[in-house]
Amino acid sequence: MADGCDCDRNALIYQTVDAALTLGLSIAHPVDNTESLPLQQAIGRVLAEECYSKVDMPAFDNSAMDGYAIRTGDLDEGTEFELPIGGRMAAGDSGMHNAPLDSALRIFTGAPVPTEFDAVLMQEDCSVIADRIRFSRRPKPGQHIRRTGEDLQVGAQILSRGCEITAREAAVLASSGHGRVKVYRKLRVTIFSTGSELREPDEVLGPGQIYNSNRYMLLALLNKPWIDLTDCGQIEDAPKLLKRVLEEACETSDLIVTTGGVSVGDEDHMPRLFKEIGGETDVMKVAMKPGKPIMFGRRGDALYVGLPGNPVSAYVTWQIIGSHMMARKAGLSHTQPESEQAVLAEPLQRHAGRQEFRPVRIEGKSSDGTPQLRCLAASYSGRVALLAQSDGLAVIPAEIAHLPKGHRIEFLRFNRLF
Ligand code: AMP
Ligand code: MG
Repeated sequence: MADGCDCDRNALIYQTVDAALTLGLSIAHPVDNTESLPLQQAIGRVLAEECYSKVDMPAFDNSAMDGYAIRTGDLDEGTEFELPIGGRMAAGDSGMHNAPLDSALRIFTGAPVPTEFDAVLMQEDCSVIADRIRFSRRPKPGQHIRRTGEDLQVGAQILSRGCEITAREAAVLASSGHGRVKVYRKLRVTIFSTGSELREPDEVLGPGQIYNSNRYMLLALLNKPWIDLTDCGQIEDAPKLLKRVLEEACETSDLIVTTGGVSVGDEDHMPRLFKEIGGETDVMKVAMKPGKPIMFGRRGDALYVGLPGNPVSAYVTWQIIGSHMMARKAGLSHTQPESEQAVLAEPLQRHAGRQEFRPVRIEGKSSDGTPQLRCLAASYSGRVALLAQSDGLAVIPAEIAHLPKGHRIEFLRFNRLF
């Protein structure tokens, strides 16, 4: 076979990015175990149930302002009004009161508005003389009262399964009475970097050696509250050792992510080893730049994603394909990052053929506010320093070889990616 590997035949097809992603998502089934956790421990996790409000929100009629509750029916005709202050109601009070008829009730934000009162005056609109209030604008019935259930009624859906419980989700769960929630169990992910040349950044480099950047890139990318990460560090290009580590990872993990060793060189062992341990490879090559060699497949319930060794290729293939497979596997309903429109600050020339995700920097804005992009280099798959200077990836369609200055182009901002 062309790449010297006895891999599953269909996997040898050179897939487009879209086809590879569709295939990747189709084999990434959400983990089937869930656990019920107290809300404070569920923060950052992936919700595994639809959630409905257990209460009306608000739960009772309450004041939206600090001021005075009145009955509009008590007011005579005219433009100047005066009422005695007959009682007081603060947040946390039960709503019971003994304010006589024809009196106002001193009230504070969040306090219950007893049913007999039908409007709240802002204190800024009243003057207080002794124990009476005066005001000159007739309030509308209902004014500054937050009515029971006006935000949400008991039983209304608040969240869908598959969302990450971030600040906003945690707040709505708490406000609607969910002290415990069902979440997907943490995704067990194992990572390792293949390559005999790799050393850790605090070591002294010998001849032919380089620092392992992919390990730290993956540690950062996979630093999620819904991931239980096992980091096997660097593994040299020794087939026996690689095979043992890969096999063990497949037995204990939901997802295995490696870098390097997936191309066609003599030291690229991963496709063959994955096959040897009983793995079924779905994709071997994707028509994308950077990152043509990226493989993924499954063994039992475990997913394997083999990223290329070049750091920029590893980063981009992870963002464009691997991260979405991982998200699906973790139970997240999220699919694609939203791209935006941008324009080129300079002409772009390249070889057509593969869809390209080129690191770019935002250089300014055009008159309509669209970001203007400058490409930092045409050749960059190993140049990891470029990534740190870039703001995102310009998406160049496969068939395009030349784009003029000012051309509109799809842009993926790094801060919208995983
Ligand atoms: P490979 O895909 O294993 O052929 O590696 C392609 C290129 O990426 C080679 O120049 C490797 O030295 C380099 N490379 C592989 N893994 C890493 C890593 N973890 N960190 C930095 N560079 C790497
Ligand atoms: Mg290698």
